[in-house]
Amino acid sequence: MAPDEIVGLLDLAETYVDLNRGADKKASVLRGRTQINLFFEPSTRTQMSFELAGKRLGADVLNMAVASSSTKKGETLIDTAMTLNAMHPDVLIVRHHDSGAVKLLSEKVNCSVINAGDGTHEHPTQALLDALTIRRTKGKIGGLLVAICGDVLHSRVARSNIHLLNSLGARVRLIAPPTLLPSAADRLGVEIFTDMKKGLIGCDIVMMLRLQTERMQGSFVPSIREYFHFFGLDRQKLALAKPDAFIMHPGPMNRGVEIDSEVADDIDRSLIRQQVEMGVAVRMACLDVLSRNLPEAGRNAP
Ligand code: ASP
Repeated sequence: MAPDEIVGLLDLAETYVDLNRGADKKASVLRGRTQINLFFEPSTRTQMSFELAGKRLGADVLNMAVASSSTKKGETLIDTAMTLNAMHPDVLIVRHHDSGAVKLLSEKVNCSVINAGDGTHEHPTQALLDALTIRRTKGKIGGLLVAICGDVLHSRVARSNIHLLNSLGARVRLIAPPTLLPSAADRLGVEIFTDMKKGLIGCDIVMMLRLQTERMQGSFVPSIREYFHFFGLDRQKLALAKPDAFIMHPGPMNRGVEIDSEVADDIDRSLIRQQVEMGVAVRMACLDVLSRNLPEAGRNAP
C-alpha cells in the first residue's frame, strides 16, 4: 500500500471510532453482503473484531468452526475454499498457520479475501490498527522511534509493522536475542539491538511481542526466567525509553514472560486496550474500502 492510501484508510477508521463510541453503531455499506470468517488458528481479538466490523457494516457474518469442519476429515484448504466460494460469499477473512496460504487461497476463489494473519509472514490489519493507535496517541507517526521487542523471528505482527512504520516515516528498532531475529533482519531497514537496555534508549513506542512457542521447533531461549530477565519489559527497563513512551502489545500477552503485569496494566503508559478498540474501527475501514470494489450484479459468476 502507498503511504497516502494508508493515511486515507486511517482517516476513514477515525470515523468508525466515532461511530463505535455512539449508541447506534450501525452502518449499511455491506448490507446484503456475506462475510465468512475462516480461522485455522486460534484468535480472540482479530476474529471477534472482524465479526463485529462486518455486522456493524450490515453484512451477514458467518464464522466457520474449523475444529468441527470437514478440514478435520482431511479436506484441503483449497477444497474448503472452493466449497465456501460456491456459496457466493462476498468476503472471506482468512487466518492460516502457513505463510502464503491466504494468498494461495485468494487466487482460487472469486470473492475478496482479507489476510487475518498467515504463518510468520504478515498480519496487515494488526499493523494498521497499531498505526492508528500510535497516531491518535502521539499525533503523528513520522519521526517517531518505535522499538519492536521479543520474538521477531516468528512474528507476522513485527513484519507487517516494519513495512508500515517504515513507509510512514517512523524509525524502527528490533530488540531481540540473536536466536529470535530473522536472518535477513539487516535488510529490513531497521536498527538492530540484542541488548534491550541499550535498544530502549530514546524510544517513543515500545511494542512487545509474545514468545510464540507454538511456532518453535527446538529451543530458542535458555529458560523463561532468563528470557524475562533480559527481554521482559518491566518498570526498570521501561525507564530507559523516553519518559512519555507508550507500551503496546498485539495480544495475547504472556504476563511474566515478555511483559510484567505492572507495566501492561499501567493505564498511563499502556495502549493495549486502545489497540483492541482501534482493531474494530480499522477492520471496518478495510471492509468499507473493499465494499466499494465489490461487483454490483452477477457477482461471483462461475
Ligand atoms: N495475535 C497476534 C497474531 O495472531 C500476535 C500473537 O499471536 O502473538 O499474530
